[in-house]
Amino acid sequence: MVRVRSSLEELPAYVPGRKLPGAAALASNESPYGLLPGVAGRLAELAGGVSRYPDMGAGSLVRAIAGHHGVDPERIAVGAGSSEVCGQLLHAVVGPGDEAVFGWRSFEAYPILTAVAGGTAVKVPLRDHGLDLDAMAAAITDRTRLVFVCNPNNPTSTVVGERALLDFADRVPENVLLVVDEAYREYADPALVPDALGLLGDRPNVVVLRTFSKAYGLAGLRVGYCVAQAEIAAAVRKTQVPFSVSALAQEAAVVALGEQAEVARRAALTVAERERVTATLRELGFEVPGSQANFVWLPLGDDSARFARHCLDGKVVVRPFPGEGVRVTIGLPEENDAFLALAAAWSG
Ligand SMILES: *Cc1c(COP(=O)(O)O)cnc(C)c1O
Repeated sequence: MVRVRSSLEELPAYVPGRKLPGAAALASNESPYGLLPGVAGRLAELAGGVSRYPDMGAGSLVRAIAGHHGVDPERIAVGAGSSEVCGQLLHAVVGPGDEAVFGWRSFEAYPILTAVAGGTAVKVPLRDHGLDLDAMAAAITDRTRLVFVCNPNNPTSTVVGERALLDFADRVPENVLLVVDEAYREYADPALVPDALGLLGDRPNVVVLRTFSKAYGLAGLRVGYCVAQAEIAAAVRKTQVPFSVSALAQEAAVVALGEQAEVARRAALTVAERERVTATLRELGFEVPGSQANFVWLPLGDDSARFARHCLDGKVVVRPFPGEGVRVTIGLPEENDAFLALAAAWSG
């Protein structure tokens, strides 16, 4: 009988947002605006080339990302979504018995990828729906190899400010990787949420994660990256599954990166809708933490699963975390209206 690693037994499967034909898809934090201009045309041009392997080093994409951030290309490593880059980072630094520390609840891929890499997840409870950085610093031991700071935090949408992030970084030992996951950077107010690359990018142990899945509208193509010191980026490249980022994904991401004005315009639309949704929900009596992402968090506790069911019955798919809360992606204005009507009709 083949033995499956026992560490996989307790591992929860990643729960993807449900897809329901005809329903508003507000469960997966995708952009509701579709492809950026130029992306579809580029994909069509490249479609005939997929009998060939892609550029293993993703050279043109790496150069475009490096140019975008004004850093040396050696500091960039890409993967099939920043989820894969999280896994690559863990594989690069975590061995059996080593620990990865992160807030909980946070991105659901962190515990899964930690266990797959053979490490031990140390989940530090949130405080007031936000990361408890003091408790996270206290949870670092001599077994800790990596700490995730998800900023803004998925699914609670809360943020860590500049002073708090700096103080925390000062408390992370130099031999522990501090990974700041900025998947929602484009939706955050730069006055409230620090850009970790600008703030901490010169530190040897800091890694910043970004993705093309959210504001760039490429969730289905699977491409993300990290900016790290060159030696760390080289290690992350070694742990990548060969050719995991397709040529289509590489080239679509290059086009998307060139569309900064349109990315910013769409993000601003989402931010305006987020503020409208938040204000309306609060008027209805819901507790809603202030969000700096493209989703809001409703800490409904034991009502979470029933609330999500209520929304599903009304053809709006949201993401419940049973017993904790419900995450609702900001969609098109009419989708948000449909959700708000269901929230208004909810009687608990
Ligand atoms: C969506 C998300 C990502 C990006 O996932 P991809 O693998 O790039 O699609 C990374 N981190 C967080 C916290 C996210 O919410």
